[in-house]
Amino acid sequence: MADIIFSSWQEELVDNRKATEQDRKKPGNVKLPPEFRPGEQIRAFMGWDGIILCDDDVDIVDMCAGYAEAVQKESCGKCFPCRVGTRVVSDWLKKIASGEGREELPARIGELALRIREGSKCSIGQTGMNPILHALKYFPQAFADAIAQKKKAREGWYRFAVTAPCVSVCPSSLDIPGYVEEISEQRFAESLATIRQSICMAGTLGRVCIRPCESNCRRANIDEAISIKSLKRFAADYETDKNRHPEIERVKKAGGKVAVIGAGPAGLSCAYYLALKGHRPTIFEKLPEPGGMAAVGIPDFRLPRPVLRREVDIVREAGVDIRYGVEVGKEIAIADLRRDFDAVFIGVGAHSSMPMGVEGEDRGYRGFIPGVRYLLDISQGKDPYPEGKKVVVVGGGNVAIDCVRSSFRIGKEDVNLVYRRTIAEMPADPAEIHDAEEEKVKFHYLCNPTKIIAPEGKVVAVECIRMELGEPDQSGRRRPVPVPGSEFIIETDILIPAIGQKVDLSFLAEKDGVKLTKWNTIDSDGETFATSQEGIFASGDCVTGPDVLVRATGTGKRAAEKIDLFLSGGKVEASVDENFKALFSTMKVYNKNEQLNIIGGLKRAQPPMLEPEDRKWTFEEVEQGFKINEAAGEAARCLRCYRIGMVALG
Ligand SMILES: Cc1cc2nc3c(=O)[nH]c(=O)nc-3n(C[C@H](O)[C@H](O)[C@H](O)COP(=O)(O)OP(=O)(O)OC[C@H]3O[C@@H](n4cnc5c(N)ncnc54)[C@H](O)[C@@H]3O)c2cc1C
Ligand code: SF4
Ligand code: SF4
Repeated sequence: MADIIFSSWQEELVDNRKATEQDRKKPGNVKLPPEFRPGEQIRAFMGWDGIILCDDDVDIVDMCAGYAEAVQKESCGKCFPCRVGTRVVSDWLKKIASGEGREELPARIGELALRIREGSKCSIGQTGMNPILHALKYFPQAFADAIAQKKKAREGWYRFAVTAPCVSVCPSSLDIPGYVEEISEQRFAESLATIRQSICMAGTLGRVCIRPCESNCRRANIDEAISIKSLKRFAADYETDKNRHPEIERVKKAGGKVAVIGAGPAGLSCAYYLALKGHRPTIFEKLPEPGGMAAVGIPDFRLPRPVLRREVDIVREAGVDIRYGVEVGKEIAIADLRRDFDAVFIGVGAHSSMPMGVEGEDRGYRGFIPGVRYLLDISQGKDPYPEGKKVVVVGGGNVAIDCVRSSFRIGKEDVNLVYRRTIAEMPADPAEIHDAEEEKVKFHYLCNPTKIIAPEGKVVAVECIRMELGEPDQSGRRRPVPVPGSEFIIETDILIPAIGQKVDLSFLAEKDGVKLTKWNTIDSDGETFATSQEGIFASGDCVTGPDVLVRATGTGKRAAEKIDLFLSGGKVEASVDENFKALFSTMKVYNKNEQLNIIGGLKRAQPPMLEPEDRKWTFEEVEQGFKINEAAGEAARCLRCYRIGMVALG
């Protein structure tokens, strides 16, 4: 962490300007790294919550002038105090910085800054003046000296970026306030275009995203978080319902040929953004259809196949060639792809089931079906074991919940879920758990299977043992410990392990030279997505292990940017935006305890759902979309919490 000379960040004042090096205090809420990017040392930071100074040689007057200019640039101009006020503050600060300031200017800047803060509609104006007010309060001498001595400020080198609480945790860095505002103004096509700048699967993510943004939504400080996910779905569905088609703008250049392995979210996203940049991607997919786990894992009642297919059509129209039924490693080797293409992207996901470590699971019993296999069969319209009517699923994640909910829908009668911890520790989306409960799945918490009972090679029951929670393990969750002698039996025809997946690495040959991690995932650099083999990149579940869609699409897009750099002979490195994202993650963009002086009480709009008894036997989509007025009304609740951060570098 950088050494701090002064900090007014988040109302914690630490002033080490007169302290000796040994006596310097460390602010509790600042974790600024010493470097912004390799070779760029952070000398100071200014942002929505104050100032952090690491180098007392930074000219605070010049930095304030730089920050005010950044705020001015980002002002959308819709409200007068922000549009005009920030221009005036910026001009006055520039005057002082150029040695032409008059004595009364600091006081006038202070007064105007307060008026901008009070009278602005959104966080740009409301927070953009905060560090300037702090500078006037805590560094008055710097302004007084610049004016009295008609001193030209030392010009610094600054970079700035815009973020928002919701955006800061979106793995695809989607401009959420932007697209939400466009919906509130009923500019639906623009909203979808904004989404597509970061995500090529708006309809898909608008249905099944795990929505980290909603847990970081500032609106929750006054009533409830914005329905960010459902608004995304609305924008996508509106285009489909109106039978409209997006205009796809591609860079016109003789780009490179890129082989993409896997048509899952990571591969589709990588290929789409490569095509937009003028390259020629070809996806090799072993299955007869695209979408990866979004197609053959996530069931239709959560994500109807036509939604996914339409998004893939748009990817194809952007210039992506998809070849189905080609298994890389069997039909074609990676070495051949590397020879015939200018670069290769690996996005093969994590499709092999993890063993449960239970007696009998490797004996090929009839009725023992791994979760992803079970869902794959169902996605192809098959019942994996029609004679079996009783089902036990083991696990607590999305795969387990999808298995139990799909079971009723293919005609199973008794559906159970066994999980070794409690509902509080379950990794599945709480909304999905709630829906499964409504559909009358029987949940057995704090128990674990110990033995499969299959007298004639056919599952008839599973023996389980009760568990209790002990000390926390590496994941921070309390470790489940078996209670001796508490074994019991659940009768079942089908036993489905759904405790996790691993990467099927059989497509790789030793000569490919692609290194693996100790978890047997593909070793790809977190910033550049490069593997150990030059020209081969990777992201998605095959790198992280089983994860979520929005990270697969987000990293797929970022990998496309790196492949573009590689193909154009540039240095393959993190972009400035990515560096800011990493920096902002240390700055607590969302403050749960912030008191907002805004009247709340507006409930979040909830999308309508089919009733449990109507939905549990069909694959019809459970969650419905918003109508136009519901979407616009919900979007109008958004507070547009944009905020600006700026670093002084050296
Ligand atoms: C049942 C289930 C439910 C889920 N629910 C959610 C959810 O609600 N929300 C959420 O955000 N995430 C969910 N996920 C996770 C999400 O689907 C994945 O994180 C995401 O699909 C990963 O994308 P990917 O592109 O990395 O891999 P995948 O989606 O796995 O795609 C990889 C593709 O590569 C292909 N492939 C593999 N090997 C080869 C080869 N050798 N040659 C050619 N092609 C190959 C595969 O056939 C596949 O099409 C769920 C996953 C499952 C299994
Ligand atoms: S809406 Fe926000 S950015 Fe636009 S002028 Fe008003 S305060 Fe500034
Ligand atoms: S209110 Fe809007 S801008 Fe603010 S955090 Fe929520 S979605 Fe983002």
